[in-house]
Amino acid sequence: MKYYIGIDIGGTSTTIGLVSQEGKISDRSVILIEGFASGPIEPFLDAIVDAIQALAKRKGVTIEGIGIGAPNGNFYNGTMEYAPNMPWKEVHEVAAYIEKRLSVKAVLTNDANAAAIGEKQFGVAKDMNDFILITLGTGLGSGIVAGGKVIYGHDGFAGELGHSIVVPGGRDCTCGRKGCLEAYVSIRGLLETYHAFEVGTVNTPQEIAMKAEAGEQAAIETFMKTGAWLGLKLADAAAYTSPEAIIFFGGIAQASDLFFPSLKETLEANVHNLYQNKIRIMRSGLPLNDAAVLGSAALVM
Ligand SMILES: [Zn+2]
Repeated sequence: MKYYIGIDIGGTSTTIGLVSQEGKISDRSVILIEGFASGPIEPFLDAIVDAIQALAKRKGVTIEGIGIGAPNGNFYNGTMEYAPNMPWKEVHEVAAYIEKRLSVKAVLTNDANAAAIGEKQFGVAKDMNDFILITLGTGLGSGIVAGGKVIYGHDGFAGELGHSIVVPGGRDCTCGRKGCLEAYVSIRGLLETYHAFEVGTVNTPQEIAMKAEAGEQAAIETFMKTGAWLGLKLADAAAYTSPEAIIFFGGIAQASDLFFPSLKETLEANVHNLYQNKIRIMRSGLPLNDAAVLGSAALVM
């Protein structure tokens, strides 16, 4: 059996998984970003290297390759570039650093692209060649697969639906512009939508979901609006690649019952009739947190 490493670099924690060639995570290690946030990136990358060595030693296996999913990850250069939710801005040669230290091939892509590859290799998109994967969390990430391939564009950054404008001149976005989809549909976006109803204060989308399930009108409408914003932008996205499905992944996606109905309604109301009633809206088939690890490993397999 061959073993690979799949790494999911996130804003609060990084998961390093030991993945077998058949797509099973047989062991994992988690590094909290907090402890490294005040310094340069190298100690953090060294901690990843240490964790990889420890996993390989514990299992007594040789690592065949390392795949990395990172925010603002550039597949072409193996770099993490100006990631807004990470402590290290600028451009960092993450893949090259890890590859050099371990003498094992390392490749890197955007975290949402990694999740899309994981979904295609091991999840609900196994038999699909054209789909869009949306990750809903701190931000809104998207990976677009067309003709069986992840779309990277000329510079490695294609498919950032989170930074397409849904409300011209609207809410401030972390990218410095106004009205991006991510400013409405993300953890921060959901909280802002809910707080605008002025019915109380919450700290997480899960709290809003619980209130919605208990019948609170403001919470119900928060999710309905969220679905409608998504549906509107996805109606546009449908025209670019004609996806068979749009798959949702991440913490907020757990509350899909609360926003899928308004999402589907708005999507169908705004999409060109060529695509009407053809696009499946689905939830990820992979356990939460696993898609990006599996996808990153699949990237290097
Ligand atoms: Zn933006």
